[in-house]
Amino acid sequence: MLSLPTVPLLLAAYLGGAVSAQVTTDSHSAASKACGLLKIELPNLIAFPGSAQYGSDIAHWATSSVQNATCSIEPQTSKDVATILGIVGRDDIRAPFAVKGGGHAYNLGHSSTSGVQISMAKFNALTHDPVANTVTIGTGLTWDQVYTLLEPLGIMVAGGRVPGVGIAGLSLGGGYSWKTDQFGLTVDTIVAHDIVLPSGKFVHVTNKTQPDLFFALKGGLNNFGVVTAITYESHPQTLVFAGSVAYAPNVTDQFNNAVANFDLKNSDPKAQVIVTYASVFGQFSSSIDLFYDAPSVPPGVFDEFLSIPSVKSDVKTRKFTEFLSTTFGNGDLGIGPFKVAQNVIPVLKYTIPVLNQMVNQVTTLGASLTQKFNGSVVVVTCSAEPFTLPFAHSKGGAYPHPPSRQVTPGSPFIAVQATADPTQEAILANSVKQLSHAVQATAVQEGQSRWDDLLYPNYAIAGTPLTLMYGSNVPRLNQIAKNVDPRGVMQLTGGPKFGAGHT
Ligand SMILES: Cc1cc2nc3c(=O)[nH]c(=O)nc-3n(C[C@H](O)[C@H](O)[C@H](O)COP(=O)(O)OP(=O)(O)OC[C@H]3O[C@@H](n4cnc5c(N)ncnc54)[C@H](O)[C@@H]3O)c2cc1C
Repeated sequence: MLSLPTVPLLLAAYLGGAVSAQVTTDSHSAASKACGLLKIELPNLIAFPGSAQYGSDIAHWATSSVQNATCSIEPQTSKDVATILGIVGRDDIRAPFAVKGGGHAYNLGHSSTSGVQISMAKFNALTHDPVANTVTIGTGLTWDQVYTLLEPLGIMVAGGRVPGVGIAGLSLGGGYSWKTDQFGLTVDTIVAHDIVLPSGKFVHVTNKTQPDLFFALKGGLNNFGVVTAITYESHPQTLVFAGSVAYAPNVTDQFNNAVANFDLKNSDPKAQVIVTYASVFGQFSSSIDLFYDAPSVPPGVFDEFLSIPSVKSDVKTRKFTEFLSTTFGNGDLGIGPFKVAQNVIPVLKYTIPVLNQMVNQVTTLGASLTQKFNGSVVVVTCSAEPFTLPFAHSKGGAYPHPPSRQVTPGSPFIAVQATADPTQEAILANSVKQLSHAVQATAVQEGQSRWDDLLYPNYAIAGTPLTLMYGSNVPRLNQIAKNVDPRGVMQLTGGPKFGAGHT
C-alpha cells in the first residue's frame, strides 16, 4: 500500500477512459444470455449501461481496473447470489463474471469483467456481539465505513489503513493493518465467513466446521464462492497518537537513517509506520505516516522522525477515524481518472542501502516516465512498511505468513493520468516490475530478501505465479477448489486461479 499525504498538495501546483478487455464472441453471447435470464429472474437488481446503478457497479478506484460489463447486478440476499451463480455457471451458458467489494483491486479483471458484474454493495450490515467480542460485517462495506460504525462502540477490528478499501478483497487476500504487530494480519483475526458456494449452497464457515475451506478463504481470494459476510475479533479502541509528516529532499539521508533505526530497534507493537518516497510530476519528497495505538506515545518511539525539519506535520492525539481520513489524501490521488501498476517487494529489514535504492528508483523512474508521458501527471512511489513482527500472530491460511520468515511488504506503485493511449498500461507494468526488481536485488545483496520469498497476493502484479504468492500451499488450494467447485464456476472470474483445468 502506498501512503501519499503530500500528493494532492504537490499536484495543486501542476494541475490544470475506461479500459475495455477484448471480448470473444462466445463469452459475449454467454454474457448476453446470462444478463437476459437475470433480467427475468431478478428484474429489480439488474442494471444496464447508461444507468446510475451500472456506473457505480462497474466503478473502481483506478480506471485501469474498470471494464465495461454487459450488465451489472446488486444481489441483496444469499439466495440472490445463488441465483446469479446458477445462471452464469450453467453448462449451456458459462458467462464470465466478476465479484466486486470495495473495487480497489489494482489489476484489471480481478473484480471487473466484460460479462456480469456483481457488486456486493447491498451486503452492508454490521453486527456486534459484545459477549463474544466479535463483529460481523457485510462484504459490501469499506473499512472507513466500518470504523465509523465501530468507533462509538469503543471497539475496532484489524482492517485496512486507507479509506475506500473494501473489507472483502483485503480480508480475502491477507490484510496488513495498523494493528498487525498487535493482532496479526486481518486473516488472523477472522472467526468465520458466510459464503455462497459455487453450487449455490450457503455455508457459515469456521475453523471447526470446515477447516479446509476456512484455511482457503484466508488469502485465497475469489476462488471458493461469493462471501457475503465476515466475522472478526474486535478489540478496544482508545484515541490514537497519529498523523503524517512530509520532508523536503534535502533531509532524505537523515530521514533514511531514522527509518533504518526505527526498523531495527522498535519492539513496541503499538507503533506502526508507513514510509513513502514519491515523485509527483518529477518532484521528489518523502513522507511518513506515524501511528501509535494509544493517546500518547512513549518517549523515544517516534522522536527521531519528529525532530527532522519537516514541511508538513499533523501528528497529534485524535480519533482513529480522523487519522484514517487523512491517510493517502483520503484515498484520492488528486489527479482525476488514473491508471496504476502496483507490485510488492518482500523485505525483512529496511537497511540504508535498500532505502537509498528506493529513493534512487523513484527519482529516476519519476523523471523518465514524466518525460515519456509528456504532459500527464505521473506519480511514482515506493513505500516501506516496516512491521516489527507481522507474522507473530499467524494462524496460517492460504497466504502463508509463517513466523519463521517475517517479510514485510515493500510497496512500489506507479500512476498516470488516464488517457486513451493503449500503451500506458504496458509501460506502467514494465516500469513497476523494473523498480521492484532493482530494490529487491539490493535487499537480496543486503541479506534482507530472497528471490523465493513469497509475495503478498493483494499487492502482486497480474501474472505473478501462484507459487510465488502461495508457496507450498498451492497443491492443497487446488484440491480444495476442485472439491468445493467441481464444475469450475469460479474459473469464470478473474484473478489468481486455483483448481484450473478441471472444468
Ligand atoms: C488506496 C489503497 C490502499 C490499500 N491499503 C491496504 C492496506 O492497508 N492493507 C492491505 O493489506 N491492503 C491494502 N490495499 C490492497 C487491498 O487489500 C486490495 O487492493 C484489495 O483487493 C481491495 O479490496 P476491495 O474489496 O476494495 O477490492 P475489489 O476490487 O472489490 O476485490 C478484490 C478481490 O476480491 C474479490 N472479492 C471481492 N468481494 C468478494 C466477495 N464478496 N466474495 C469473493 N470474492 C470477492 C474480487 O473478486 C477480487 O478478486 C490497498 C489498496 C489501495 C488501492
